[in-house]
Amino acid sequence: MLIQGGLVIDPASGRQGQWDIRVQDGKIAAIGPNLSALSTETIVPATGCIVAPGLVDIHVHFRDPGLTHKEDLSTGSCAAAAGGFTTVVCMANTKPVMDSPKMVEEFYTRAAREAVINLYTVGSVTYNLAGKELTDFAALKEAGAVGFSDDGNPVESAALMRQALEQAGSVGLPVISHAGDLSLVADTIVNEGPIAKRLGLKGMPTAAEDIHVARDVLLAKLTGQHVHIQHVSSATAIAIIREAKARGIKVTAEAGPHHFTLTDEALLEHGTNAKMNPPLRTFSDVAAVRQGLADGTLDAIATDHAPHTAEEKAVGMKKAPCGIVGLETALALVWTELVRPNILTPMQALAKLTYVPAQILGLNKGTLAPGGNADITIFDPTAQWEVRPEQFFSKSHNTPFAGRKLTGQVVATIVGGRMVFNQGKIVAR
Ligand SMILES: [Zn+2]
Repeated sequence: MLIQGGLVIDPASGRQGQWDIRVQDGKIAAIGPNLSALSTETIVPATGCIVAPGLVDIHVHFRDPGLTHKEDLSTGSCAAAAGGFTTVVCMANTKPVMDSPKMVEEFYTRAAREAVINLYTVGSVTYNLAGKELTDFAALKEAGAVGFSDDGNPVESAALMRQALEQAGSVGLPVISHAGDLSLVADTIVNEGPIAKRLGLKGMPTAAEDIHVARDVLLAKLTGQHVHIQHVSSATAIAIIREAKARGIKVTAEAGPHHFTLTDEALLEHGTNAKMNPPLRTFSDVAAVRQGLADGTLDAIATDHAPHTAEEKAVGMKKAPCGIVGLETALALVWTELVRPNILTPMQALAKLTYVPAQILGLNKGTLAPGGNADITIFDPTAQWEVRPEQFFSKSHNTPFAGRKLTGQVVATIVGGRMVFNQGKIVAR
């Protein structure tokens, strides 16, 4: 395969240029200007497009096993490919929970068979996400877990979080923290403030997130171990992470597209499809997330792709489950909301979607290094399109971005040298 005529951007090497890429035997064989095509080669035209490393999302929920009416490894991986993602990391809140080596091994066996992209999973921090007893980190790592998280739930006990950091550190992996003190949730997970009030709800204050973020960076300092903070949404939490980084504490952090795009006012228009955890917050929080991404406080962009069916979301604001699907809109939201307004350069934006998140979990992904696996995303940075959830490859359509006009569209996704998504269609199984 010869990818011709695109603007190649490789954030891991910091290089970009008008180059062609030759793919042979699933690897990147050569990158350079005007490579001449071999007679045996398939030409992939990329004129006017950006050719980037395959995107990496270290925070998705594929609901498999146990909740496959929402999503499964196959449909989730197709949604990822359609969004330009070639590698994703699944969270552990499946049914049963991903808390044993046997579960993790089965995940990888099935992923190899059923997925069209590279899938990884974390193991849970505690058995059954119950926050009581730590899982066997060494055994989970041996089986293939790439980190530990009770995502969906916080680890409520500081003492247990300390132990988790120590044990995860001893096997060389981070603890991935879903920050949010549940004792501060008055009735349901929406941002405490005027919008919640208008909906007749009390909600939860940003302090619920801030308290756990502060606690976790202090425990990272105490233990000298790496904590990764998920889906940061609050201006104060970002200030805490910025200060912790300045003090040399081993903390990394991610933000989701919804948190740099929407405020809690979206609840009024989109109802439960704008309900997620942590919740959408205020204008100043959105501004802080953008600033945090720009100044490097927030290392990575991750979707927290969280499918739920329409029926599950149709039970009122108080009871509806948290989360939105994100894989098929993420790149376009990054381009429309961050790159086109010059908050991030294309190089910076793609770094946060490729090798940086990969490095956080020690994955050898997200680069265009010659000799490496040919995981490549080709997208048109000027193409405009409208979000139509009924066209998603995901089983679920719960998004607050329905009807939104975005700029930047994925054209093709290549995984290990194989075209899996091309011109709107999944072309490989
Ligand atoms: Zn979470």
